[in-house]
Amino acid sequence: MRESIEGLILSQTILKESDKFLTVLTEKYGKISVYASHVRSIKRGSLAYSMPLQYCRFIINKKSDSYNLVSGDVIHSFLDLNNDLISFALAQYILDIARELTVENNDESEMLQLTLNTLFMIQKGTTPLAHIKATFEFRAMAQAGYMPELHGCDYCAKDGGEMLLDIMNGRIICAECQKKRNFGKEEPSDTGTAVIVVHLTVSMLRGLRYVLSSEPKRVFAYSIAQDELRDYADVCEKYILNHLERGFDTLEFYKEVSSMPE
Ligand SMILES: [Zn+2]
Repeated sequence: MRESIEGLILSQTILKESDKFLTVLTEKYGKISVYASHVRSIKRGSLAYSMPLQYCRFIINKKSDSYNLVSGDVIHSFLDLNNDLISFALAQYILDIARELTVENNDESEMLQLTLNTLFMIQKGTTPLAHIKATFEFRAMAQAGYMPELHGCDYCAKDGGEMLLDIMNGRIICAECQKKRNFGKEEPSDTGTAVIVVHLTVSMLRGLRYVLSSEPKRVFAYSIAQDELRDYADVCEKYILNHLERGFDTLEFYKEVSSMPE
């Protein structure tokens, strides 16, 4: 059946001659694999709508669970992110996470929206990349089902002052309860997994809460003190990597190019 769908190309696998498989995040079918033949010709214009970082409208032939690309149009291009190595590296990591957290035949409209908004923010160039990255990581995890409970200390319900985030149990603990219980040193976690706790300042906790509760389009519109941004970014990165139990080459690459002297 021939139909029109919209989607963001997350990655491509080049096959023989001018054919490739595209991994596309769509609103309608979630993350799908689209077979694209004869798309590497610049003359035919098909190259533009068959590259990662392009958000396109595609005409596809759908046969049960296989999708064949007929033609396409670019709705919005993020290809100019390639002009800046650090932005490019971050965009690749964002696409990687979107691919990791989505599946086929599932409603992935929230994840698609978040990914597009994140790429827009990188493209706009007015917000520190560390802020964009951290916000995306934490929000993406919450949307994917790893929503932590940040309302108050999990033991005494206190809210305010120095708090700790217990990453694997998705909860916060106040400094007094941590001291009393020697939490993070001797006590095994509720799930039997490793206990990983990180310190949160008042502004960092406020930031995390904002990211969880904000409407999708406003998710980046908050601020973290300049001198706390590095720790904040570190918390969000630890949250995603520990829950997914894996690392990402694209993340390593981003870190490598971000730390290079300009
Ligand atoms: Zn407490």
